[in-house]
Amino acid sequence: MSNTIAQNIENILSQITVLAQDADREPASVQLLAVSKTKPISDVIQAYDAGQRHFGENYVQEGVEKVHALAHLSDLVWHFIGPIQSNKSKFIAECFDWCHSIDRLKIAQRLNNQRAVDQKPLQVCIQVNIDNEVTKAGITPEELPAIASQIAQMPQLTLRGIMAIPKATSIITEQRDSFERLAHLYQALQTNFPDVDILSMGMSGDIGPAIEAGSTMVRVGTGIFGQRTPSPKKD
Ligand SMILES: *Cc1c(COP(=O)(O)O)cnc(C)c1O
Repeated sequence: MSNTIAQNIENILSQITVLAQDADREPASVQLLAVSKTKPISDVIQAYDAGQRHFGENYVQEGVEKVHALAHLSDLVWHFIGPIQSNKSKFIAECFDWCHSIDRLKIAQRLNNQRAVDQKPLQVCIQVNIDNEVTKAGITPEELPAIASQIAQMPQLTLRGIMAIPKATSIITEQRDSFERLAHLYQALQTNFPDVDILSMGMSGDIGPAIEAGSTMVRVGTGIFGQRTPSPKKD
């Protein structure tokens, strides 16, 4: 028998507590984002009933459908964490509370223009391609200060931090190395922007080294909802 979603959430939360304590950190300084991409609305409701409030989605159309279907749960918080095509930015600006995957100035400008003035500003992270992989989105570390300064001036966006997906490796020293470089970037960003409080890193396979290095938000899909079906969904 596989675990239920509620049991998985409880397990991950207790892992987060132990990992944070081992790193001399407050467990409450690490938030859990439940990544529900490709999973049905009924799974999101199970996680909600278990107390989970923050959910991450990768595909615009799928995410928007879930946001609308669950609009009656007014304390749900939706994070967009996937690649952004500019012709879809409007839907992110209208429907989501957060966006972790800003990877170019043009997208930030579009989101800022498309976010309605009567909405709370969109909470944003800049995605950093920390291991310089051609297959991954994100700016280079060198580009971060300039794009952060621009975003910080956009009234409909609130700059919260950075997000990254380090290169896939099961070698823990390599995982640590990427996470530590991200933590340095994050600290440097905080010296210019003291309100920055989100270092979005760590997924099901690597929350340990991520929390050890200072992650403030781990994004967990498989560890909560189980394996995803292999065929990736497209927008
Ligand atoms: C899918 C995804 C996750 C979750 O990955 P798991 O390995 O299933 O925990 C986290 N972040 C991003 C950006 C993702 O696309």
